[in-house]
Amino acid sequence: MADKKSPGLWIETGVDGKFCVVMSGAYGPEKHLPLITPAEDLVAAAEMDYTAYRREIQRLYEEHPLFAERLDVPESDLEDLTAEALLLPSTLREIDPLSFFVLGSLLDQALRMQDDGSPIFLLRAGQRLLQVLELPIRTQIRLRNIMEMTFDGTERATQQERFAKLHNAYSEIAAFCDPAHLDGYGDTPLQLCVGSVFQLRLIELLLYFRQEKQRIARCDYCWNYFIPRTQAATRYCDRIFDGQSCKKRGANLKRKKGPEQDDALKLFKQLRDRMYARMLRYQDAPENQRDRLIPMTVIQYDVWEKNARQARRDYMAGKIEAREFLRRIDTTHELTSYDTLKQELPPEESIWQKRVAADLDFDPERQYPSSLMLLDLSKPSDDPQWQYLTAEELIRKDQEGHQSLKDQYSK
Ligand SMILES: [Zn+2]
Repeated sequence: MADKKSPGLWIETGVDGKFCVVMSGAYGPEKHLPLITPAEDLVAAAEMDYTAYRREIQRLYEEHPLFAERLDVPESDLEDLTAEALLLPSTLREIDPLSFFVLGSLLDQALRMQDDGSPIFLLRAGQRLLQVLELPIRTQIRLRNIMEMTFDGTERATQQERFAKLHNAYSEIAAFCDPAHLDGYGDTPLQLCVGSVFQLRLIELLLYFRQEKQRIARCDYCWNYFIPRTQAATRYCDRIFDGQSCKKRGANLKRKKGPEQDDALKLFKQLRDRMYARMLRYQDAPENQRDRLIPMTVIQYDVWEKNARQARRDYMAGKIEAREFLRRIDTTHELTSYDTLKQELPPEESIWQKRVAADLDFDPERQYPSSLMLLDLSKPSDDPQWQYLTAEELIRKDQEGHQSLKDQYSK
């Protein structure tokens, strides 16, 4: 029998591009998770549902007496919080056995923190415990941000192109996941010890970039990630929402868009809508937030529109070819090519995407308040109305220009 691995998390590669995660504790036998491919495990990890778990941690922060503001903190409060905190990981045992395993030893370490005699020791010790419990959530947030930067809009791309996108957004992460690290290893089985679940995800990404059998794509309808079954372009996953698959819902929404118009005119209309939306957004944004937007003043829009209308007239009158028409209206260089009319305007980078790219730890739940009152100044009025926006509405606002079909078509 092979020697037992030293305690920790291990990744063992096997045949058919599959690997196995091994959890080796200080006592007892090693536990092996089922064989899986990197793409499958990444998709599953991004989707684990921590909602209930996260709510419990939040509840402890907000309601546990240890964190109440007062002069004296009784030691029994920390003991009580510790007892509650130690129960939480077991709720993850089924959905996320990996985090359950890791939290065991991390909590153990946190509990061994020396009492430094300071009056805020108890408070710090409590916070430390909750921070440890939050690790699986933080790890997933990072993974989701990485996947958004790598797999959004790249269904037709090559693995190299996806890797380049990742590198563009998070260069340090890309340096870690570079498949070149394993050049020369071929199919040699590997055994790697990893320090954390996040590191394990990065190794999975590395193994993912090493292969080309499976690709990860993002569903146009629900925006979850999936693995297309064939090489053909695949826009929707097989998930079912309210009894109907994304594929079916997506196709229905497409049909609603009406009969195909002349493709060049369609692009003209898309561009005009985009410029107009940009102008509105720019106009509505408070002065100090305009640097987050693409500048488009009323005057700039007016110039664009006049020029585009003239080009459209010339095109309709047969004075210019479609290619020339597109070149003339695309003054901001949004189209990938003027040689083909069969194209969609590539999605605009939204404020949301900019925020994700700027911060690996970007966490929607923290970045958006649960609700916000805004004075609606979008229409001229002597009596502007207060608008009440929920977190979902604020997110939708920041995703404007690039969002799932599901969100675009929900009211
Ligand atoms: Zn879907």
